Amino acid sequence: MIVVKSDYEIELMKKAGLIVGDTHNYLKKYIKPGITTKRLEKLAYDYIISRGATPSFYHLYGFPGAICISINEEVVHGIPSNRKLKEGDIITLDIGACYKGYHGDSAWTYPVGKISKEKEYLLKHTKEALFEGLSVIKDGVHLGDVSNAIQKYAEKYNLGVVRELVGHGIGNKVHEKPDVPNFGTSKTGPILKAGMTIAVEPMLTLGKRYIAELDDDWTIVTEDNSPSAHFEHTVLVTKDGYTILTKR
Ligand code: MG
Ligand code: MG
Repeated sequence: MIVVKSDYEIELMKKAGLIVGDTHNYLKKYIKPGITTKRLEKLAYDYIISRGATPSFYHLYGFPGAICISINEEVVHGIPSNRKLKEGDIITLDIGACYKGYHGDSAWTYPVGKISKEKEYLLKHTKEALFEGLSVIKDGVHLGDVSNAIQKYAEKYNLGVVRELVGHGIGNKVHEKPDVPNFGTSKTGPILKAGMTIAVEPMLTLGKRYIAELDDDWTIVTEDNSPSAHFEHTVLVTKDGYTILTKR
């Protein structure tokens, strides 16, 4: 069942989303060559706690970090470590915060210093794919319309669409029904209703769409080692459109 949230729940989700957006803004200025991903994680942890929330991903399904940090060919679920960022890397921060039992979830890929033209292209068009998907959301549309808009945009720009990982409903659990794939057919799937809250999150690659898991049992990488980007917002479906809850 897809939960339609009450006004009270939506208020809490707006607060959780705001904290997630603010955490991104706070961390952004620390993304520089030389900083370790462990240090970024600690900054995120302390900031989220200071706002009266808790990091949603800490120990979620056993994940050993407060946020997910994935670099270059890493798609998702990178574990914070002593690895230092290098000029030319791209880094995805996937941040979740839980406020009074309700979650916000947003991933964003950032450049580290100056990056290649190819990586710039990947970041630009993955972000745009997210907004293409969001643009069709309103009460009464099929979820497949959202998926299809993302896929069509990504394929137009020759980017690989990761299929094994998808967006999701979100509320008092990080992952709720429905799945929100980044590929699909218009006029299929569940119908969105005002009051539903979903996380839309295209994960696109510069190469082929296939992925693999590293030996740490968490980090997902592209099979061909091509760079990957990931942009995600938690949104509220409204009568005429949508409201971004994890705004910057
Ligand atoms: Mg996320
Ligand atoms: Mg998510």
